[in-house]
Amino acid sequence: MPHFLISNDDGVHAPGILALAQALMPLGRVTVFAPDRNWSASGHDKTMDRPLRVRETHLADGTPALTSDGSPADCVALALLGVVQEPVDLVVTGINAGENLGQDMTYSGTVTAAMEGALAGLPAVAVSMKLPANGSRPDFTAAAHIARRVVERVLRFGLPPRVVLNVNVPPLPLEQIKGIRITRLGERIYRDALVTRLDPRQKPYYWIGGEPPDGIPEEGTDIGALAEGYASVTPLHLDLTLYSLIEPLRQWNWEED
Ligand code: MN
Repeated sequence: MPHFLISNDDGVHAPGILALAQALMPLGRVTVFAPDRNWSASGHDKTMDRPLRVRETHLADGTPALTSDGSPADCVALALLGVVQEPVDLVVTGINAGENLGQDMTYSGTVTAAMEGALAGLPAVAVSMKLPANGSRPDFTAAAHIARRVVERVLRFGLPPRVVLNVNVPPLPLEQIKGIRITRLGERIYRDALVTRLDPRQKPYYWIGGEPPDGIPEEGTDIGALAEGYASVTPLHLDLTLYSLIEPLRQWNWEED
């Protein structure tokens, strides 16, 4: 029976991780180990300058869980380094409240927590759901169902080393989701804007504000798939090398001082 390590970046008490844990329980043993608060958009954070505490808690359905004051990747690392003693077969993160598409990869605590699992040599899946446009409460039922379908296939077919499957699901009932598309990362359009205000002592402080990001819904991409009502599965690897620029860079006359 496979043993799943489940984490997230929205915090151990977020509804998305409960939906994910419940979806995977029929497939194997589930260990939940997630941060004690929201770490969204924290990137691949590793705590180096303070000790980490781990405590036991419960999800809303009574499922036992572990939580720590570390980052999402810290939680995965702590678990795999021995806080969780039983060997883990697969790391699954999410279900994030909000999609993780295109260039969100380096911001996403959901994806980087899965990357921590991949770095430790385990297959890893990150699951995110786009939020309903009308601001209504997200229903994670369909995303949980799709997460289970993806995990079943990872168990059946396996993944090469150091690979993360990045799964995104549109905010639709399952019967309205057209299917699952295998995609590449698309182009995100960020609409960040600087908000400058004055504190009570008349010193400026800043928010990085602006509209939520958009994206180019190109065919074959994660952004395109969601725009058309499909769930998206993008294979990611941890090699960020831009191979096409290696030779041109070598021509940059490096001998000259
Ligand atoms: Mn999040």
